[in-house]
Amino acid sequence: MSQFSNVSEAGKDEIPSFNGSEKAKASDFANYFCSYSQIFHQKQMLSDTIRMASYHSAIVGNPDCFKDKIVMDVGTGSGILAVWAALAGARKVYAIEYTDMAKNAEQVMKANGVDHIVTVVQGAVEDIKLPEGTEGNVDVIISEWMGYFLLRESMLDSLIRARDKYLKPKEGLMFPSHCDMFWAPVHDKEDRFQIQQEYHGSMGDWEEFVESTKQTYGVDMKCLEGNYEKEQNEYYLLSSKWSELPSEALLAEPVCVKSFDMATCTIEDSKGILGADSAPFQFACESDATLEVSGFAGWFTSDFRSRSDPEGKDAAPKVDNPVVLTTAPGPYTHWGQQVFYFKSPIMLLSGEKTEIEGNIEMMRSKDNARLYNVKVTHESRRMNKTSGVVMNKNPKLEQVYQMP
Ligand code: SAH
Repeated sequence: MSQFSNVSEAGKDEIPSFNGSEKAKASDFANYFCSYSQIFHQKQMLSDTIRMASYHSAIVGNPDCFKDKIVMDVGTGSGILAVWAALAGARKVYAIEYTDMAKNAEQVMKANGVDHIVTVVQGAVEDIKLPEGTEGNVDVIISEWMGYFLLRESMLDSLIRARDKYLKPKEGLMFPSHCDMFWAPVHDKEDRFQIQQEYHGSMGDWEEFVESTKQTYGVDMKCLEGNYEKEQNEYYLLSSKWSELPSEALLAEPVCVKSFDMATCTIEDSKGILGADSAPFQFACESDATLEVSGFAGWFTSDFRSRSDPEGKDAAPKVDNPVVLTTAPGPYTHWGQQVFYFKSPIMLLSGEKTEIEGNIEMMRSKDNARLYNVKVTHESRRMNKTSGVVMNKNPKLEQVYQMP
């Protein structure tokens, strides 16, 4: 197997909010936190109905889990989850926010009459100081930490560190409690075609550009052609794309490529889908008409349900009204799906069955520990649906995509 390109070295895959240098923290702020300090960005999340309705039902719909409890909201943003926790009966809510959005959250607490219950604390959850006795004593941690294809943004690291420091080990609840990453082949011909067009368009005027730069300014740029082609190839063809797919785009039963039990998952889990546990998939696709498989899509679900790990299963309070938040192809969420397009499609022909199998790996990128690369390995074969005779086989292909 070839090496993963642009991959972080061990030890350099930590996000700077944990033990980062001042310089690393400053660039993390510019790359990551800055947008969360804008109400505009918080409002986009607050307008995602599926996200909002899921968290609202999970918190307000399970008052038994919140009544008289100590709650922590990791990354409170505008503060909405903390307000709901207070309304659900919490005795104390610590709402932690890194950015200046914390000041807005304080206003939200006052305006909604819960500022005697909710204390907003500005800082990285990894660094903040809370009153003595809070460590190991929080009953519920609520957080909306999920990024594209679950792991992008790497905020899970911060959540795990908060859990290990503050949550009651056996009786504590994590909201969400379980998260799963899904993977499926999809049909999305128009977008795949458009990306190809954009790539060819960006290469199409290169010669003219070289010629005119030479003629007008006397400098030859032809030596950059190879690097430009590589750069444009990575940008257009080797990057996944955000997409809002309809459920009809799915061409086979999705496969769960990684499951997270939020009570027990580790920082290592947060770093991706690595080597030994790299996730296998196997799909069987059939279609009545000729149709292309345009690529694979990745998304996630987040569940709010009772603890299932051996330590917490019997000790922690039960979640009587479980909720599932899904970002699968179908109704809009701001997460949408990440689509990993093929350079050339796999065809489904009428009367035949196409089997696709392979695996994915996912690793943090070298330049930015909040971003990931995904290596997709797959092979496919077409066979007659009734006789089973193999009509065509495609050899194993390996492609590394960046998730921008
Ligand atoms: N809870 C809000 C906002 C979710 S967005 C809501 O559901 O609407 C995630 C928030 O977490 C952002 O505002 C971001 O600034 C904050 N955040 C991310 N990492 C953090 C950390 N390590 N410490 C504190 N806040 C963090």
